[in-house]
Amino acid sequence: MDYTFVAPKSEEELLKEMKDEGTYLMSGGTDLLVKIRIGKVKPKKIVSLSKIPSLKFIKENSEELIVGATVTHAELLEYKALREEFPILFDAVYTIGSPQIRNRGTLAGNVINASPAGDGLLALYLLEAEIELSNGKIVGIEDFVTGPSKTALKKGEYVRAIHIPKSKWDIHYFEKVGQRNAMTISVVSVGWLIKCENDKINEMRMAFGSVAPTVIRLRDVEEFAKGKKITKEFVDEVSKMVKSDVKPIDDVRASAQYRQKLSSNIVYRMIEEGIKC
Ligand SMILES: Cc1cc2nc3c(=O)[nH]c(=O)nc-3n(C[C@H](O)[C@H](O)[C@H](O)COP(=O)(O)OP(=O)(O)OC[C@H]3O[C@@H](n4cnc5c(N)ncnc54)[C@H](O)[C@@H]3O)c2cc1C
Repeated sequence: MDYTFVAPKSEEELLKEMKDEGTYLMSGGTDLLVKIRIGKVKPKKIVSLSKIPSLKFIKENSEELIVGATVTHAELLEYKALREEFPILFDAVYTIGSPQIRNRGTLAGNVINASPAGDGLLALYLLEAEIELSNGKIVGIEDFVTGPSKTALKKGEYVRAIHIPKSKWDIHYFEKVGQRNAMTISVVSVGWLIKCENDKINEMRMAFGSVAPTVIRLRDVEEFAKGKKITKEFVDEVSKMVKSDVKPIDDVRASAQYRQKLSSNIVYRMIEEGIKC
């Protein structure tokens, strides 16, 4: 582990520091330092973002919440409007690691890490967040994440902020399944958002984590749900669709078959929890 460490004080300085080969940016370091420790990443230089004031902000306007790249999970959870206006994001971020991890880790780091098990990422898929890059480009979350640990970021680019559109949902649900304790990565994670009209679903978004190379939205289920009541028959159908949509793999935490079964069973929470429009 032989690398230099710098902490620029402005984005201008950051752009200069990023030019060297073998440079890695670091926000909270909760992912990066683990990767370095296990030898997956061998940096020549680490550029910390922690001293750049222009990346540490939470702003909102009538249309969106904008979260700067170095805002930690703990800072985000403290932001008063989060729980009320983005409860799915609050619930997901609240489950990340431990208080220590939430005090260091950032939402931007969670997105850039691009893990199929990323909890903040799952909520951002549901909320259709957009990623603001250093060159001013805005990229939709599903285009930004291109594979496991892969993003659309090009050399010399960094993430400046995450834009989260405001939208009102009547029902939100997030759960990590098969998680034995807070420090264990979930075997499967799921989230959904529902808008109701009268007693029927008007719009639904559903996403799963850890069942494919990236977090996935289940668009066939979302389409199917339109105009339906949440009944046992509806959930039976959704469960079948989920089973065929998810493409998990075997790993040390669970077999693909177990993950598939968990995914198709978890949607019965709608009935168990008495979720209704
Ligand atoms: C014990 C433990 C438990 C955990 N539990 C969970 C959990 O329950 N759920 C979960 O989702 N995650 C979990 N994580 C993973 C991790 O904490 C989160 O993904 C966290 O949000 C990462 O943020 P960070 O700021 O620490 O990222 P970093 O480690 O600083 O960065 C992550 C990656 O992004 C790059 N990067 C950082 N900032 C920028 C930027 N602005 N622009 C471009 N590139 C950048 C880095 O080079 C690195 O490749 C856990 C980690 C540990 C160690």
